[in-house]
Amino acid sequence: VYLKAVDAYGFKSFADRTTVEFDKGLTAIVGPNGSGKSNITDAIRWVLGEQSAKSLRGARMEDVIFSGTEKRQPLNYAEVTLKLEDAFVSDSKLNITRRLYRSGESEYFINGTKSRLKDITELFLDTGLGKESFSMISQGKVDEILNAKPEDRRHLIEEAAGVLKYKKRKKETASKLEETMLNLSRVNDIIFDLE
Ligand code: ATP
Repeated sequence: VYLKAVDAYGFKSFADRTTVEFDKGLTAIVGPNGSGKSNITDAIRWVLGEQSAKSLRGARMEDVIFSGTEKRQPLNYAEVTLKLEDAFVSDSKLNITRRLYRSGESEYFINGTKSRLKDITELFLDTGLGKESFSMISQGKVDEILNAKPEDRRHLIEEAAGVLKYKKRKKETASKLEETMLNLSRVNDIIFDLE
């Protein structure tokens, strides 16, 4: 799966609907300081479920909504869509959207269908494109990875390798098993009482 385009409206400095296309190969984004380069990577992380306003360089989540300029009114909501495609499957379009209103109401969509954040997280769990994955390496991240504790570094490698999904399922199965064992012991108690 690769990222074909990012479509932003009302997100930070993108007051007009703006589409940034990523061709195959390398894409470089250049521009003067403060022109909105980092806002593009913020937008991508935001759709992938970033929940920390601070890590998006704001105080509250509502700060991602275009707050207006001298010439333009603030907007009421921010919406970003990631357009993804599978390089090997034709017609494999996957559009993921996050929308946030000033009221605080937040919505996610997968191909236009209202979804939960959980659905989006699961979708990306084994693609290496999670919000905390290797696919987005910001300034300082390289040092952070090199200096990370072994278990944290292992976590990053496991996400990139697609192991995390199975670890999560293993945990879910283990807790179901435990629950079943408890039920079984309760049944045994009842049988004992009856005998
Ligand atoms: P640098 O090279 O300095 O890191 P940059 O090109 O990465 O700069 P960004 O940090 O992406 O720039 O963009 C910052 C700009 O976005 C600032 O001009 C800021 O005013 C604007 N901005 C951020 N949030 C909003 C918002 N909610 N509404 C309007 N403009 C915003």
